[in-house]
Amino acid sequence: MKLEVEKTNCTRLRYAAKEHIFSVNVNREMGDFAQFYCCYFLQSVEHRQSFYIGSSPNPPRRLRQHNGDLVKGGAYRTKRSGTRPWEMILFVYGFPNKIIALQFEHAWQHGYKTRFIKEEARIINKKNSGSAGRNIHYKLALIRQLLNHPFFKVMNLGVQFFNSDVASTFDQNKFGIALDPCYENWGKVKTSENALSLSKYDLKRLTVDDLSDISEQNRALVSHFYDSSIKLDEERMNRYTERVMDGLSKCKLCYKTYDYTSEDEDLKPHIAFCTNEGCDFVSEVSCLCRRFIVEEIDDRDKDLTLIPRGGRCPECRTELEWTILMKYSSMIKDVSRK
Ligand SMILES: [Zn+2]
Ligand SMILES: [Zn+2]
Repeated sequence: MKLEVEKTNCTRLRYAAKEHIFSVNVNREMGDFAQFYCCYFLQSVEHRQSFYIGSSPNPPRRLRQHNGDLVKGGAYRTKRSGTRPWEMILFVYGFPNKIIALQFEHAWQHGYKTRFIKEEARIINKKNSGSAGRNIHYKLALIRQLLNHPFFKVMNLGVQFFNSDVASTFDQNKFGIALDPCYENWGKVKTSENALSLSKYDLKRLTVDDLSDISEQNRALVSHFYDSSIKLDEERMNRYTERVMDGLSKCKLCYKTYDYTSEDEDLKPHIAFCTNEGCDFVSEVSCLCRRFIVEEIDDRDKDLTLIPRGGRCPECRTELEWTILMKYSSMIKDVSRK
């Protein structure tokens, strides 16, 4: 992939770096794009000082496992008596694959030593920091710090809160760590409609009914988010699959033809469709990447990213998230292999 824009020597070097990273990400890891992957944060309903961080491609199922509704697969630490039921208070989602979700999970669990947070910026430096390291303010601050790291920043990750008290604690931002404005610009930090608040319960005297009530509401919130996301994927994929089955078509940026019904792999480059239902824009991934990177460079010369975060559809101007385009592109490729 070659970028036509030429500026100073310094920018040319950065372009070269982009080229390299892009080829690694798209060509080698494309097949690895997961439909859904999140890192979740559990809080014990009864013991509000007990937390658990994990990752999963299917958070509603994982939550059921943690709460013991399913026999197999529950993580050991959540089986300690007294901590069940667990409430999934939030998750960070949009990880391109399991490996990256695990990296985030590990960094979040080991905020005192992770390479994703500069040593001088670490809130806690030692493993045995007592209660400070188990504090919810600290765990939420780590999310801010990790999301700000350039590695995670390009991924269009989102944070979804299922508990409005926790969302307020996040907004309170006790450690004063500003979240990169791109998250707000892209609307990536959200609280579910009808999110739970435990303020109406007497947490010291929770009845069995309260526990199952809270647990059930939480389960419904998590399932709703997950199911809607999968449903949206399915609708889009049906639309895209139908279009590639039409056979010969053209990249709308370079006019090269592609054909997903062909046996010839050379005729099946990775392609990206506009996610706007009413728009029929389609192009090769490489052409769109080039376009977006050039736009980002023009936009904000100082803060160059290695992969575009996204850009506007060249036809309908809908804002498109790069990782989402990549996800569908890899799913379409999978369909063509079957
Ligand atoms: Zn093209
Ligand atoms: Zn469009």
